[in-house]
Amino acid sequence: MDILVVNCGSSTVKYQLFCIEGEEDYQVLAKGIVERIGAPGSRLEHNGNGQTFTREREVPNHRVAIQWVIEVLTQEETRVLESIDQIEAVGHRVVHGGERLTGSVLVNDEALEIIKECVDLSPLHNPANILGIEACRELMPGIPQVAVFDTAFHGTIPEYAYIYAIPYEYYEKYRIRRYGFHGTSHQYVSERAAKMLGKDLRDLKLITCHMGSGVSFAAIKGGKSIDTSMGFTPLEGLVMGTRSGDLDPAIPLFLMRKENLSVDEIDEILNKKSGVLGVSGISGDTRDIEDAAPFNHRAQLTLDLIAYRAKKYIGSYYAILGGLDGLVFTAGIGENSSGIRKSVCQGLEHLGILIDDERNKARRREAIISSDQSQVTVMLIPTNEELMIARDTWRLAKERGEHDAALHRGSEEKYR
Ligand code: AMP
Repeated sequence: MDILVVNCGSSTVKYQLFCIEGEEDYQVLAKGIVERIGAPGSRLEHNGNGQTFTREREVPNHRVAIQWVIEVLTQEETRVLESIDQIEAVGHRVVHGGERLTGSVLVNDEALEIIKECVDLSPLHNPANILGIEACRELMPGIPQVAVFDTAFHGTIPEYAYIYAIPYEYYEKYRIRRYGFHGTSHQYVSERAAKMLGKDLRDLKLITCHMGSGVSFAAIKGGKSIDTSMGFTPLEGLVMGTRSGDLDPAIPLFLMRKENLSVDEIDEILNKKSGVLGVSGISGDTRDIEDAAPFNHRAQLTLDLIAYRAKKYIGSYYAILGGLDGLVFTAGIGENSSGIRKSVCQGLEHLGILIDDERNKARRREAIISSDQSQVTVMLIPTNEELMIARDTWRLAKERGEHDAALHRGSEEKYR
């Protein structure tokens, strides 16, 4: 089954075309990105059929971007598909599913309405995701569209872990609670971790550390998320590229009063000017910080802060899990930076976490990086959110196909 996976951001469309026949039986036929949608200099970067190229064209909106992607996938010299009809289903990454969408769904009018209701909870992401779904429904009518949510995997977090200690009426009125994000990534690496350990996921206690420009950790017991560091929004939790993570909630109030800041200004400070960028004053990219650290105090301080906060989360998740079998690193930093992985694990020997320096040199490939004496297996697992989306899309499209076939058989029997 040929499945197109679409990940729409506010000015980008990332895509991957999969040929998938089973959970482990798949092939990536093409992938790429359309950037700068609605701005001058829109471009498409494509990789497929052994070719990689970049093209420029005016792309005023997401519909035109997706139309361009389909053109590239099906036209003469770059063709990986005979025609658009070969695409049997489309999988969409959707950031927020709220409390009602806690698993992947076939998008019908009702599901789309709920996704639209979640715009309030994710004003930066859900609108672009909706544009992508609407464009694909229009361009490929009748083809199953599946929505896979970043929040869904965390739908198992217990009530006492997701409720904030503010007046309960705000939960009732606005659904203010912890939701968690990066769920597709946490789920993917936890499933891979079980395979690497040769154990049943249902018997495992894992902490998964998604460390990229956004950072979130999850405590996973028996394959279910029981807590995660991001909350009502992706601002809560660990130190990120430009986001503050946890802080005393009185600080924004203090700053707003002292500096006479508007709501939008404080929002910008906490989301875009804080974290690694804010503390180091150099960059939000940890590569720059690692380069600068030997001769720059604030760069070293930033690295120390990242590691210290990470240790605190690992310790608290160890406590709520009641032990730990595996610690997993993934995403940009987790897959690449041996230095940050080491500094996060250093000092956690009393929890049975022992890194092996030689094994820890691994980058961007699945590897066990703990020593043979380590009680906890520390793993490096590259994330693959697109594959998770393709699998869920394949499963739901197949179920719908079987359901339709059964209905068809039923009506044939009725009129026989
Ligand atoms: P992601 O959001 O998963 O794409 O991760 C992006 C972030 O990963 C960048 O902002 C960097 O901070 C970090 N990163 C990417 N490559 C490396 C690398 N080779 N070494 C250290 N950090 C890296």
